[in-house]
Amino acid sequence: MIIDCHGHYTTAPQQLRDFRKAQIEAFEKGGAEPEEPVFSDDQIRETLVDAQLRLQEERGTDVTIFSPIAGLMGHHLGDEAMSQRWSRLSNNLIHQVCALFPKSFVGVCQLPQSPGVPAGNCVAELERCVTELGFIGCNLNPDPSGGHWQGPALTDRSFYPLYEKMVELDVPAMVHVSSSCTSAVHHTGAHYLNGDTTAFMQFILSDLFKDFPTLRFIIPHGGGAVPYHWGRYRGLAQDLKRPPLAEMIRDNVYFDTCVYHYPGVELLANVLPVDNILFASEMIGAVRSVDPETGHHFDDTKRYVDQLSHLSEEDRHKIYEGNARKVFPRLDKALVGAN
Ligand SMILES: [Zn+2]
Repeated sequence: MIIDCHGHYTTAPQQLRDFRKAQIEAFEKGGAEPEEPVFSDDQIRETLVDAQLRLQEERGTDVTIFSPIAGLMGHHLGDEAMSQRWSRLSNNLIHQVCALFPKSFVGVCQLPQSPGVPAGNCVAELERCVTELGFIGCNLNPDPSGGHWQGPALTDRSFYPLYEKMVELDVPAMVHVSSSCTSAVHHTGAHYLNGDTTAFMQFILSDLFKDFPTLRFIIPHGGGAVPYHWGRYRGLAQDLKRPPLAEMIRDNVYFDTCVYHYPGVELLANVLPVDNILFASEMIGAVRSVDPETGHHFDDTKRYVDQLSHLSEEDRHKIYEGNARKVFPRLDKALVGAN
């Protein structure tokens, strides 16, 4: 089985985006919130059949761990109540997708974060999504201020109530920023990779995994700058008297393969332990076009993993399936239920 651990519902019906736009406008003008849209199953089917579902089949992947549109989470917009309502609606829509196509999608939730509000306030929505909707993880924004970086690090104690709940439910978080508050920092080209890199450095500097030995994070987009600069981070950890990186990440920090060219994936697989790499494509996402050098879509990442000729079949299986089942223990049950 080939498990893609990183996909967003970027093709969601237009009414979702219309609602969000109206919700933000109402907040800014002080008006009443718009009515929440209701989506029919047929409407949802139409948005997936000729998109994610077709690409899964064409590319030979089986199931996508699926979450709301990351760029639309917009935690820096509005207030906590608005974020709660928006997250609930977005998560319910993912649940509807997963119920329609249980073999193809398993849900991961957006959290109702808001600047200045402790992450512990997200516990109820996480619990609802996992215990009632069958979700298997969450996306955690390391910067709900949208690029201002005004909040505490992910390792701050204000996150601990959320982490206690993640440990209790045995679900991981993908570290995932949302849109950028300034056009000077492009969202998917700069803010996303900055977020990934920043979170990793926060982990190096703290004893978070001593406090939570089973807490698990996935750093997406190939880990931002981390694998390429592995020597820098190893050296920083050593100079700062922190544990060696291999030890620090072993049971707690994982990286996906959303690096859109072969040399990047090759470097990732050479630098990081194979036990810490999860296959992902983030389709349909940041980069949708065809690479003229290869004739294939940039985000058809399975091609790059297939090309890693030095990998044993056992290691390839870990990247495609084994590691995802380990990091998302609830995945097994979700997939058994679907078959
Ligand atoms: Zn993403």
